[in-house]
Formats: sequence, C-alpha cells, structure tokens
Amino acid sequence: MTTTPLTLRPGRPPADPSVDHEIQAIVAGAAAGSTCTTDLAAGPWTFDTRPGYGPGASMGDVIPTGSPRQGELPQRYRDAPDEELHDRIRAAKATLGDRVVVLGHFYQREEVVRHADYVGDSFQLAGAAASRPEAEAIVFCGVHFMAETADLLSGPDQAVILPNLAAGCSMADMADIDQVEECWEQLAELFGDMDAPDADGLVPVVPVTYMNSSAAIKGFVGRHGGIVCTSSNARTVLEWAFARGRRVLFFPDQHLGRNTAKAMGVPLERMPMWNPTKAWGGTDAATLEDSRVILWHGFCSVHRRFTVDQIDKARAEHPGVRVIVHPECPMAVVDAADESGSTDYIRKAIEAADEPTTFAIGTEINLVRRLAAQHPQHEIFCLDPVVCPCSTMYRIHPGYLAWVLEELVAGRVVNRITVPQDVAEPGRVALERMLAAKPPAAGAQK
Ligand code: SF4
Repeated sequence: MTTTPLTLRPGRPPADPSVDHEIQAIVAGAAAGSTCTTDLAAGPWTFDTRPGYGPGASMGDVIPTGSPRQGELPQRYRDAPDEELHDRIRAAKATLGDRVVVLGHFYQREEVVRHADYVGDSFQLAGAAASRPEAEAIVFCGVHFMAETADLLSGPDQAVILPNLAAGCSMADMADIDQVEECWEQLAELFGDMDAPDADGLVPVVPVTYMNSSAAIKGFVGRHGGIVCTSSNARTVLEWAFARGRRVLFFPDQHLGRNTAKAMGVPLERMPMWNPTKAWGGTDAATLEDSRVILWHGFCSVHRRFTVDQIDKARAEHPGVRVIVHPECPMAVVDAADESGSTDYIRKAIEAADEPTTFAIGTEINLVRRLAAQHPQHEIFCLDPVVCPCSTMYRIHPGYLAWVLEELVAGRVVNRITVPQDVAEPGRVALERMLAAKPPAAGAQK
C-alpha cells in the first residue's frame, strides 16, 4: 500500500506547513498575523453541537435546515494529545492494512493529510477510490459531496466514510435540488419541451454542474442530458454542452461558470444570474432567451476572499511576483492575476518553475502552506493575509480520523455516506459523459 502522501516530496526538510500550528500561535499571541476568528483554535468538536458551518471562511453562510450533523466525538479522542492520535491512526491503519484506504483533499489540514494514502482534488480522489477495489472502507478526509462522488464511483460493497458528518460544503449547499427542479420547470415554461431539439439539433438548455455539488444535483443533470465538470475541464465540458444545446444552465459556482465562459468569448450580457430566492431567478424572459450561460447564484466563500487589492499589494511588495488564482475566484481577481487554474494546475505550475520564483497564490491556505514547505527554493504565499481556512475541511481533525479507523478495527462502520440508487445511476451517467468528453490526463498521483 502507498502510505506516503502523494504530493509530498521525500527527502526535503520542509518548514512547518501546519496551518493549525500557525493559528494556535497567532491566537496565543506567540506569532504575528491574524485569523478570521479565534474560534479556529478550538477543537472542531466544539462546533458539532451547533448549527452552521463552523469557524473559517464559510462561517457567515446560511446552512440549509437539515444539513448532516456530527454526533458527539468520544471524549478520549478530544482529550488525546496530537502525538497519541497520530500513533493511534498509524496503528489502526497497520491493523486494517489493504482493507482501508485513506484519502486526503488538498485543502485538508496537514495533521490529517500526513496519514492519507492519496492526496488530490475531489475527482482525483474519487478515481483513487475506484482504483482500490480491494479496500472495504474508503475514509474520505474531505467534504460531503466528495464522499458522495467516491460512493458513486466505488464498488457496492465498499463503505465510504466521512470522518465528520458536519464537513459539508457551503458552495455545494447553495444549489438545492428542489430549487434546481423549480428553476428547470420555469425554464420549461419559457422554452417548451426541454428534450426537443430545434432545426439545428440543439435542445433549449443543457444543465452542467460543477463537481462541487450534491449527488442529487449530479443525478438531476444525468436525467436531463447534462454533464459534470471540474475546474480542470470546465472549458471542454462547456464546449460539449454548446454542441448539444442553445444555452447552458451552470451550477452551483457562478465564478467558475463566468470565468470559463468569458475565456471562451461569451459576452457578460449573455450570462444572466439565476438567483433561486427571486421570481424568475431575478432575471426576465428576454434575457433568458438571449442567454448562452445561465449562472446559478452560488460561490465558494474561501475563494471569494481574494481581491484585486491583494494582487496589487503583492505586485507592489514583490516585484516580479507570479500571481496564480483558482477559477472559483471572482472575475475581477482572475482578470488581474497572471494565471488561473485548478488546484492541480497551481501545483504543477509551481513544480515546473525552474528558477527560484515568488508566487502569490489565490486558493485555500492549507494547500498554499504545503506547497511553500515542499518548494523552499521558491517564495510562496497566500494572497489573503488573514488565515482563514475552509470551514468544512477544518471540521476533520485527527481525532475523528482516529475514531472512524478504530471503529473499523472493532468491526463497526460509522459515518457511512450512501447515495440512493435512483440518484446514483443518473449521477454516474453525468460523470461518464464528462469522462467521455475528456478523460482526466493523469488521475490521482500514486
Ligand atoms: S473550499 Fe469552497 S468549494 Fe471547496 S469545500 Fe470549502 S467551501 Fe466548498
């Protein structure tokens, strides 16, 4: 079994990449800098009994009623010092052997990622899960929609486990299946039969969902002739959709949709926003009829923190800096950056830089800090000077990982994520369309 986190280079003596250590030091007054909330210094179990996404970038977002809540983490895991938790995780993994595979998202805290068999973005990790059919349990250290995708792509006898059920995703939650169904019905009132091609062979609307969406949304898309995209292949997927439809309904992330379509030459005035809380989405029939991409009113609160002012400051303070941001950032930020691309793009761009370079990166801070530690020949910093990780990734702590693994050792599966069959089948169809549109270049690194 591969036990080394995939994105770490062996043999390097990295600086401490732990965002958690930095937060603890800032809150204790032992380090300069600031966090978006001092609550980040507390154990995530502090927030499991409270509604909301928890401290971090999404703490101001409205969490849907009925979102999964995590039960009480046993006290022994809350009280255990870090090294004891790490020893317990290592021991449980050794006992379980090939029966378990641990996946760690790029944005996961370092203390969890160090135990991951695979580290990657959500789709790479789902592919890694599918490549390990012998594993009875897939422990997904990421967020809820990622565990659902792994369940879609893994075998029926494999249990996908999310160590903390409160690890949702505020962006994915912004596209609720009832709201999407309602939007579709309204569009059908305007455009008529949504399955009927016109004289050019194009249907009125092709639904496209970002990977960062619930399985219910992926199933909706699969049922309605649509497709899933990632931040790496959004342009290819939009080309696929435009070959089949007059326009695209893109959800949940307005920024990825706008940035991608704009780069393809779609004028901004032909990209109306659909706000599900407003009548007709807050737009009108004439605008919808003229549209090429209807953007759902969703966003990532991590990437929304990045601003043009931060880029200006980085350029002023670091002449020659190379600014790379994620396409979930607002359009003005993407336009002001030197480059934009997925987490994998950012990682590869830094790896490919031959000369010592200063990089200002606009994505989640755990990944930025890890990249900085892995590449000491470069200066790499996060554009956002405030330490404010993804709230929901932060909910996974080594204590939860130790708990789910020791439960597996005891023969119990806790926190299993299962997608109902009637949703899973069309969801897989939407994912298969994406793979057929353009297979991922490399898959997860091993
Ligand atoms: S970084 Fe944004 S899109 Fe990713 S899990 Fe966190 S809230 Fe969701």
